Amino acid sequence: MGKRIVIALGGNALGSNLPEQMAAVKETARAIADLIEDGHQVILTHGNGPQVGMIQKAMAELTRSDPEKYIPCPLSVCVAMSQGYIGYDLQNALREELLLRGIRKGVATVLTQVEVDPQDPAFAHPTKPIGAFMSKEEAEKLVAERNYQVMEDAGRGWRRVVASPKPQSIVEIESVRDMVEAGLVVVACGGGGIPVYTTEGHHLKGAAAVIDKDFASCVLARQLEADTLIILTAVEKVAVHFGKPEQKWLDVLTPEEAEAYMAEGHFAPGSMLPKVQAAVEFARSAPGRSSLITLLEKARDGVAGRTGTLIRQ
Ligand code: ADP
Ligand code: MG
Repeated sequence: MGKRIVIALGGNALGSNLPEQMAAVKETARAIADLIEDGHQVILTHGNGPQVGMIQKAMAELTRSDPEKYIPCPLSVCVAMSQGYIGYDLQNALREELLLRGIRKGVATVLTQVEVDPQDPAFAHPTKPIGAFMSKEEAEKLVAERNYQVMEDAGRGWRRVVASPKPQSIVEIESVRDMVEAGLVVVACGGGGIPVYTTEGHHLKGAAAVIDKDFASCVLARQLEADTLIILTAVEKVAVHFGKPEQKWLDVLTPEEAEAYMAEGHFAPGSMLPKVQAAVEFARSAPGRSSLITLLEKARDGVAGRTGTLIRQ
């Protein structure tokens, strides 16, 4: 029987500029269409690092060229633009691949807002560098004029830093659920979603923050009561002693085993660690749920239990 599967696409599924993305989504669409062909309900999420970087750079250039007319573009608006741009390419690549296989199924992108807690301790300790490198003087100007937080990034120059708060809930969850239940393939939570919090009345205010796409995917999968969360990335399996001579690939883990490896520091923060954390949280959220981390091209084999790292109770 078909499963409800939330699939998080990593950077390798999208490339890092326009022609790369155009080529990469074709490959991505084939991997996703395999699962749809096998009868699964698929909901896609994706990262947006290079894309939002490109948009921010273009918007900053606009402000520089005509500061009277263009104010600096808020990060939330840049994330929304990146969701639209990536959704556009994914929708078309999937539409084409499904039609080639004789499958008539709508594909739709939902511009997704994700609620964060304005009291999240992450706001007091921003950790995520974003945007272009700057000189110290440029950085100081942004601090004075726009109240940005900045930091020196590993000797390469100054960058703006923003918080990476935990996602609480998906604002558009009912829309996403209705579309999934109507049989559509939905692209949602791009770039981890547009971070927002509620202010007076029902107003949602964009937060100057970025949400980890693996954590947002876990919240989406939980709220959709999915069977499986699949995180597709650049490695076929998760390893302990990654990159060292004693490296060992992992096939199946319980949440407790995964946590023990986390505590031993086997997973790099900012890359593999959030994936394993999201996978553990989802696998624990209800009986019968499991998470899989594998390579994009191995999605079908992974769902069939032939490869990847499976996390289940
Ligand atoms: P994505 O764009 O898919 O989120 P990331 O680069 O953030 O990808 O994270 C995936 C990367 O994490 C892998 O390509 C690998 O280089 C790295 N990594 C770090 N620690 C591990 C580990 N223990 N096992 C496997 N991969 C690891
Ligand atoms: Mg990542």
